[in-house]
Amino acid sequence: MDISKYPQINPPPRLLMGPGPINADPRVLRAMSSQLIGQYDPAMTGYMNEVMALYRALFRTENKWTMLVDGTSRAGIEAILLSAIRPGDKVLVPVFGRFGHLLCEIARRCRAEVHTIEAPWGEVFTPDRIEDAIKAVRPRLLLTVQGDTSTTMLQPLENLGTICRQYGVLFYTDATASFGGNPLETDAWGLDAVSAGMQKCLGGPSGTSPVTLSPEMAAVIRKRQCVEEGIRTAAHQDGDDEMIYSNYFDLGMIMDYWGPERLNHHTEATTALFGARECARLILQEGLDNSIARHRLHGDAMLAGIQGMGLETFGNLNHKMHNVLGVVIPSGINGEQVRTLMLEDFAIEIGTSFGPLAGKVWRIGTMGYNARKDCVLQTLTALDAVLNRIGSKTVQGAAMQAAWNHYASGSL
Ligand SMILES: *Cc1c(COP(=O)(O)O)cnc(C)c1O
Repeated sequence: MDISKYPQINPPPRLLMGPGPINADPRVLRAMSSQLIGQYDPAMTGYMNEVMALYRALFRTENKWTMLVDGTSRAGIEAILLSAIRPGDKVLVPVFGRFGHLLCEIARRCRAEVHTIEAPWGEVFTPDRIEDAIKAVRPRLLLTVQGDTSTTMLQPLENLGTICRQYGVLFYTDATASFGGNPLETDAWGLDAVSAGMQKCLGGPSGTSPVTLSPEMAAVIRKRQCVEEGIRTAAHQDGDDEMIYSNYFDLGMIMDYWGPERLNHHTEATTALFGARECARLILQEGLDNSIARHRLHGDAMLAGIQGMGLETFGNLNHKMHNVLGVVIPSGINGEQVRTLMLEDFAIEIGTSFGPLAGKVWRIGTMGYNARKDCVLQTLTALDAVLNRIGSKTVQGAAMQAAWNHYASGSL
């Protein structure tokens, strides 16, 4: 093999302003270049305990079982669904975008009886509508998405925990896209399980998924049988309910690995854990509320800029996530041509869309390390210039000036 054809990796410089991933914070990259240590080295188990404490603070929870599932955000989703859903369980999924469909798909693989309610893309559900569906279906679990990047909408969750408790329903949310940039109160909102990811507002690379489980959810998982009876007695204490059809995503075993038993399961992804630890430290040093306010500020500035250049936005702005904006592609403009020119000539990436929004909406993110004034102003300037170059009649400079004015007005 001619190895000279495979030079050392050297990715082109890019400003990632799509719906994720985004550029990692340099502090996270530095933490991730630290040397490896053994998985039972007291330093390593110490870091694992620190990660649990840091993520309890970020999830705003007292949950003992707050830990990382190795793999991308989908690993956290699968671990929770596989561990919580018994074959035949009824689950209810309010679907308002692509990630709601993902929850249905995974739940079906868990042999759940899946019930859905649907909202048009660009809208969310009222608590009443979800309560009516809970009354009609009487599910064992409610599976929600907090921020669905496919539509840029944020589902209000704060009233659902009370409803779930009233009907004996376990309450889960996929907070991957919203976590760290929009409010999430695990305990105050009565959530039984939450999963997240690194590559959105947390400013890290994908590869590990923080999860948190309420004591009730942990007890449900502990009731599943274990195949290796006698070897991992701690993982599944009662063993009444049907086993979990995955070893890697068996949260009982993952608890035994993160807990004081330290029973060997997988080899913790050391480098990913170093990154996740630094992501949490970054936000907690800034202050979680300050991080949420920063995402709102830069999201609003991007919105002001897009509106300032006369472009239409997608979806109900009252329910928009702070960190991503849907922009309707003006008629007569080829959305992919714009994205290509943005990438090739300005090294800026903005997002395309899926399903019913494909070819109709760009998605522009302002999150994590890239929720910054310079990133917003650069992106608007480039988009404006590209649109003018290919024949769209925006007033040149208006977008960037509108965003700049938003910052100058000091509005938060
Ligand atoms: C981006 C996103 C994910 C990403 O999952 P990965 O496995 O990390 O690609 C999951 N859920 C939601 C709601 C997202 O927006």
